[in-house]
Amino acid sequence: MKRKVAEGPGPDCVTVVGGGLAGCEAALQLAERGRRVRLIEMRPVRATPAHRTDRLGELVCTNSFKSEDPTNAHGQLKREMRALGSVLLSSADATKVLAGSALAVDRALFAETMSVAVAGHPDIELVREEVSELPAGPTVVATGPLTSDALTASIQAALGDGGLAFFDAIAPVVHRDSLDDGIVFAAGRFDESADYLNCPMSKEEYGAFIDALRAADVYPGHDWENVPFFEGCLPIEVMAERGVETLRFGPMKPIGLTDPRTGRRPWAVVQLRREDRAGQMWNMVGFQTRLKTAEQGRVFRSIPGLANAEFLRWGSIHRNSYLNFPERLTPHGSLPARPDLIFAGQLTGVEGYTESAASGIVAGINLDRVVAGLPPTLPPATTMIGALFRYLRESPPGRFQPMNSNWGLLDPLPDAPRDKQKKRERLAERAQADLLAWVEEHGIARRSVPAGVKG
Ligand SMILES: Cc1cc2nc3c(=O)[nH]c(=O)nc-3n(C[C@H](O)[C@H](O)[C@H](O)COP(=O)(O)OP(=O)(O)OC[C@H]3O[C@@H](n4cnc5c(N)ncnc54)[C@H](O)[C@@H]3O)c2cc1C
Repeated sequence: MKRKVAEGPGPDCVTVVGGGLAGCEAALQLAERGRRVRLIEMRPVRATPAHRTDRLGELVCTNSFKSEDPTNAHGQLKREMRALGSVLLSSADATKVLAGSALAVDRALFAETMSVAVAGHPDIELVREEVSELPAGPTVVATGPLTSDALTASIQAALGDGGLAFFDAIAPVVHRDSLDDGIVFAAGRFDESADYLNCPMSKEEYGAFIDALRAADVYPGHDWENVPFFEGCLPIEVMAERGVETLRFGPMKPIGLTDPRTGRRPWAVVQLRREDRAGQMWNMVGFQTRLKTAEQGRVFRSIPGLANAEFLRWGSIHRNSYLNFPERLTPHGSLPARPDLIFAGQLTGVEGYTESAASGIVAGINLDRVVAGLPPTLPPATTMIGALFRYLRESPPGRFQPMNSNWGLLDPLPDAPRDKQKKRERLAERAQADLLAWVEEHGIARRSVPAGVKG
């Protein structure tokens, strides 16, 4: 029988704001740990520009959760989520459609299944209203990239200036192992420390690159996204349209660089900047873009040194409210002064359906611990979930941008095999073993696991 959840804070009563993917996961984790949960979702009282229904866990775009193969970074993330009892995955298993090695669902059935699993739980009370201020008492805030304006203002007031971004402008990230060392050279401008990797271009290569860029297909976006382009952060395709030389006097300027192969300054250069301490992920500096992903692959692999580049993150620019996690939040995603007010989902700077859901699982686990007087805990950075959290807390705050799961986030293997497939198998094996060890060590296991969830 359903227990009525008392209004306001109570010793075992907690609030979850947002009935999306992260909020549903957090609510179920908490309820399954014996907490009474008040889950507050504003739809249908107030709509977002992208959602179409009043269902919990509605998917606003593709119906695919990407690969199930554990040697794929998204597959490994799912394996870890299954071990933690993900309701997204049990609902997806129950509503999947044929999609090869990917996990794709019938979106209407999926949202219905999520709604029944979450709202039907005896210890979860679903309330339909807009939350306009950060609640008092133990709370998970998982209101997503389209958080309502009133709550946004309250979050902004709590975080201070610069604590919240409204648009992302993401440059692609490539894996170090996939760069051609016969072409790419390490150097800083004017012999500064050799912190950057540089892809040199001749005049002809640059001209062909600009032509390809101008001809490439751009993601059209929605009217409501209405992305404002800031002069200091223009998409490269917009710069290319302004003139052939614009990029060469902007992010692709060769000034201060000498190509060791020729002893001369290249005509243009694409610079790559390290994203992580281990030096596995490299960001294409100034290459924020709205090109379609297939076009990014085609055009950017024409850059000398990137012919075989493995893209860990594609470029994008869209409406997306997210917090400055590394600067303003604690490692487990709470306000520093309120360890019991935990943010989760896309709002924290993870990117994607399953990444958001995984963040909700961890937020639920940690809110339960905080309420119980235990310290919050995070999986180690050898796991996909732990590595995502490390990215959130350790990124340089001045240029923090959302991130999806990828192998470059994890600690490298001490004795990595050269073969890429074998390396991923070993990374996946280690990730799963370390996740299970973390579960064991911290007593993370839930009381029960939703039907359909496999360990
Ligand atoms: C247009 C668009 C397309 C996308 N396409 C994809 C894609 O194809 N693949 C992918 O992996 N990711 C995609 N994303 C990212 C996607 O939103 C996230 O991956 C995921 O849905 C985020 O989960 P979440 O739980 O953080 O937020 P959401 O799933 O958005 O859930 C947040 C919930 O909070 C509610 N809410 C907001 N404000 C309040 C309030 N004040 N009070 C109460 N409730 C509130 C909302 O109604 C919503 O139900 C897309 C995002 C957008 C905006």
